[in-house]
Formats: sequence, C-alpha cells, structure tokens
Amino acid sequence: MDLGIKGKWALVGGSSKGLGLGCAQALAAEGVNVVMIARGAEALQAAAAGIREACPGVQVLPVAADITTPAGREAVFGAAGGPGKAFDIVVTNAGGPPPGDFRQWDRDAWIAALDANMLTPIELIKATIDGMAERGFGRVVNITSSAVKAPIDILGLSNGARTGLTGFVAGLSRSGLAARGITINNLLPGKFDTDRLKGTIAGTATKSGLSEEQVRAQQVAQIPARRYGHPAEFGSICAFLCSAQAAYINGQNILADGGAYPGTF
Ligand code: NAP
Repeated sequence: MDLGIKGKWALVGGSSKGLGLGCAQALAAEGVNVVMIARGAEALQAAAAGIREACPGVQVLPVAADITTPAGREAVFGAAGGPGKAFDIVVTNAGGPPPGDFRQWDRDAWIAALDANMLTPIELIKATIDGMAERGFGRVVNITSSAVKAPIDILGLSNGARTGLTGFVAGLSRSGLAARGITINNLLPGKFDTDRLKGTIAGTATKSGLSEEQVRAQQVAQIPARRYGHPAEFGSICAFLCSAQAAYINGQNILADGGAYPGTF
C-alpha cells in the first residue's frame, strides 16, 4: 500500500536506536524525509547512514541534540537543510524515566520526567502544529507506553508524566485541528526488544536473583504473542498512523503489546 506521504518531512525524536529508529526507518521507506534526533552523535550518524543506504533519494538529517531542552529543540528547528518548523509529521520520543520507589523521587526527578515525557512533546506540537494547519496536513504520533493504560508500580514517574501528556492530547486532538488535516495520536508500546528493555531485564534480574534468561521467559509467558515486539513492527504502525489513509484516526491511544493488556477496551 502506498501511504501517500512521499516527500513529506518528519521529525523523529530519540531515533538512533529502538522504537524511534524503527519509526524513522519505516517513514523513510515510504519516501518521507527524516530529521533524526539523539544525544549520542556516533550511534545517530550510523543509524542515519543505514537509512540513507536503504532509502536512496530520501533526505536524512541527523541532529545530535537533547530534545528535552530548549537549546536542543532550537538545534533541530535551525538545522541546515532541514524544514525549519515546517514539519508535516512529528513523532515525539525520548528516553523513559528511571524506575524506583516514589519516596526516593524529589522535585527535580519529577521535573525531569515531566520535561522529557510530557512538556517536550507539547513544545514540539506547539512549534509545528500551526504550520501543519496552514498547509492542510499534519500527523503527530506520541510514543508513550502501555503503562498509560496499565500502570506499572515501579514506573511512577513514567505513569504520571505520560498520563499528563495523554490528557492534554485528548483535548487538543478534539479542538478542531482534524478538520484542517491534522491527526494527533498516541502509540503505546508494550514490551519491545530494545536497549531500554534489555536494561530493565538486567535490573529485574539483579533485584530478583533470577538470570536474565529466566526473567525473559517469565515476561514472554505473560504476552499472548509469546514474544517481544520488534522495533520494525512498531515503526510500521507509526508509519500507517502518519499515512494519508489514517486521516480519520484521531485522538486515539493505540496499544501495540502482543495482547498483553487484559481488558476488553
Ligand atoms: P531505547 O532503545 O533506549 O532508545 C532511546 C532512544 O532515544 C535512543 O536513540 C536515545 O539516544 C534517544 N534519547 C534518549 N533520551 C534522549 C533525549 N533527551 N534527547 C534526544 N534523544 C534521546 O528506548 P526505546 O525502547 O526505543 O524506548 C523509546 C520510548 O518508549 C521510551 O520513552 C521508553 O520509555 C518507551 N517505552 C519503551 C518500551 C519498550 O519495551 N521498549 C515499553 C514502553 C515504553 P541517546 O541516548 O543517544 O540520546
């Protein structure tokens, strides 16, 4: 299926690896020009080179920056050869907050989580949405977490910050922007095989005394698909949400978790 977005410009946060990279790869495969962002320049350049090789003819612009800071966002919007703030597609994503006990988290920990997982997506939407409306096309996909629907006790910082973003997006997506060609949706990953997941598996293994292999086996047994998701699968869903065909999907929280969430809705 031709997704009808060839030649558009996409901003993809946190895209040197993991889910963000999966999204950048899937969009580029559809002929979308991508601005890729991550803090570590080396991995970012390597990821960008891989996409250039796989998708000749697509413009790939890596910007090594911390997307959670005003200076980082200015670097993205000011990048030479980029579209400035005239993005057609914005995929918001940055690292997730650390796990822990809420008694250990001071105000700074909460502000960092809110900055990364709530306020940064809102700032990116604020900077780009009016231009999308003028051009009559826009797609925003926020990478959040299945923890928005089924909170995980040790991820309180994530539960709180992402739920704040989800509430904001629920209102914004119903404010009339869809009539101007803009959709805003959240894509909620369950367990995907990325570096972040490897880190949490190692943490759980240390805490529980189990081996990493045992932790993986326990986790996978609780997923009806009996496996972790692949970042490429996540990227494909993201690309579809950004497609011309998905113009009538708006204000939704779309779970990609292999069926792990046990509720009917
Ligand atoms: P990952 O494999 O650790 O990749 C994170 C990417 O984001 C890297 O490219 C990283 O590069 C970049 N990044 C992190 N902080 C950044 C910042 N401040 N500015 C710019 N780039 C930044 O993580 P992932 O598994 O893809 O997860 C992506 C998001 O989905 C996270 O918020 C995570 O909490 C959430 N999530 C993931 C899962 C899962 O199973 N994987 C499940 C639920 C939710 P640098 O470090 O070089 O900046």
